[in-house]
Amino acid sequence: MPEQPAAIRVHNMSEVTHGYSEAQARLEAMRCLQCRKAPCVGGCPVRIRIPEFIQAVADGEFARAATIIKESSLLPAVCGRVCPQETQCQEPCTVGRALKDPEKGVSIGRLERFVADWERGCGKVETPAVKPGTGKRVAVVGSGPAGLVCAADVRREGHDVTVFEAFHKFGGVMMYGIPEFRLPKAIVGEEVDTLRRMGVELTPNFVVGRTRKLTDLLEKDAFDAVFVGVGAGLPRFLGVPGENLVGVFSANEYLTRSNLMRAFERGKALTPIFLSKRTAVIGGGNVAMDAARTALRLGSDEVHLIYRRTEKEMPARIEEIAHAREEGVVFHFLRNPTRFIGDAEGRVRRMELLKYELGPPDDSGRRRPVAIPGTEYIMDVDGVIVAIGNSPNPLVPRTTPGLETTRWGTVVAADDGLTTLPRVYSGGDIVLGAATVILAMGQGRTAAAAINRLLAGGAPAREAAEKVESIPDQG
Ligand code: FAD
Ligand code: SF4
Ligand code: SF4
Repeated sequence: MPEQPAAIRVHNMSEVTHGYSEAQARLEAMRCLQCRKAPCVGGCPVRIRIPEFIQAVADGEFARAATIIKESSLLPAVCGRVCPQETQCQEPCTVGRALKDPEKGVSIGRLERFVADWERGCGKVETPAVKPGTGKRVAVVGSGPAGLVCAADVRREGHDVTVFEAFHKFGGVMMYGIPEFRLPKAIVGEEVDTLRRMGVELTPNFVVGRTRKLTDLLEKDAFDAVFVGVGAGLPRFLGVPGENLVGVFSANEYLTRSNLMRAFERGKALTPIFLSKRTAVIGGGNVAMDAARTALRLGSDEVHLIYRRTEKEMPARIEEIAHAREEGVVFHFLRNPTRFIGDAEGRVRRMELLKYELGPPDDSGRRRPVAIPGTEYIMDVDGVIVAIGNSPNPLVPRTTPGLETTRWGTVVAADDGLTTLPRVYSGGDIVLGAATVILAMGQGRTAAAAINRLLAGGAPAREAAEKVESIPDQG
């Protein structure tokens, strides 16, 4: 896929990849073998009819392709860009398997992005039809992919839907976490506008648990059901000395300032952002890659990524690791900070790193990092971004009696999203732990179907089952 050269793109926030032209998309689509058993479909959490949409692309029937994709995915322009395709739809692709390299499989996500962009580009995005009003009211808490998809599917049935969002902009992590250079905010904004056109009411700056309790929405405000999609936005820290020095940030804060408050637009932005010249990013997931690449774009001369395992165990998408490397991020594997050291003014100046080696596999199946005592050494830094994972947002569970959580803080929900409280459903990262856009979207859709059944008088009150056995290890 054509993209901005690394030397140019590190100086701007524009999207790295340009997307396929029509001719390129058709050529790529022609690589699909139209396998009878279509293993790719099994790799897609929402089971898009992949061979059919790809055939439509190959035939140049892009509108037909868009219709097929949208049967299963409401956010194809987003998923086509950020889905970890190499571990999902593309991983089992027959073409990649035959070539013994999943990277060489059919580029399903890129084709999906092409179709979605083509549809938007020619102004053919249709607003989904909404059935006549039922008078029933549903509150959706949180406007990430889980909340947006749930809101759309419930609204289609003719129910009134209000989305309550803590931030002043809608879209969740798609808006405040994933940077502009990977997912342009205009795309997320257009998805939100589609909901507005459908008649969904969107209420910003409304923190459920503070502005109003969840139970009040049901008992005082006469909502018939609530969907909780508040995500996993609570940053984890290392817990080592010096982590509160000036210049040490959570990736959440750093990325939110840059993405949501557009801190990169110096002089115009609503918020400042810390500028460092020699920046260390701690972690190996997508969040770490996003933070490292953002730091480069904000003017760091050097960005050092510190990860306690090896590249093989990194949870970040392969494409993001490759892009970060091309842009000049320096990777340090089998290292972890033991302390941060400040100057007389309390600003971070150095950090101590300890070397690691790989031991036997842990619960996540990846080889465990084992510290090598006595291998400490010092690295000079003037900015540190900690990106070692996020935990579920605790506010709603803490302020909602009877809403049970697991010991990892995730909300307990049955397969259809029903929580331990009647008429309260949940999905996305708050149920799964930090997961992916497509999984959050799928859960929003499943919960919407259950809410629609409930409001039609058909949903049995059942006990919610504990779903999450452990929070995924993101570091
Ligand atoms: P979120 O997107 O977190 O949305 C939750 C929303 O609820 C937020 O807007 C929040 O402000 C709001 N909220 C929270 N509490 C309250 C409250 N009390 N009242 C009202 N509103 C509230 N996934 C991928 O698939 N591919 C990627 O490349 C990728 N990159 C990522 C990069 C970063 C930096 C991060 C942080 C995550 C990334 N993810 C990626 C993960 C993905 O974004 C999440 O799994 C997904 O957004 C979860 O969706 P959600 O709807 O459950 O929650
Ligand atoms: Fe096409 Fe690959 Fe799916 Fe086969 S597995 S149908 S080649 S995309
Ligand atoms: Fe692949 Fe994601 Fe599209 Fe499914 S939604 S086909 S996993 S890119």
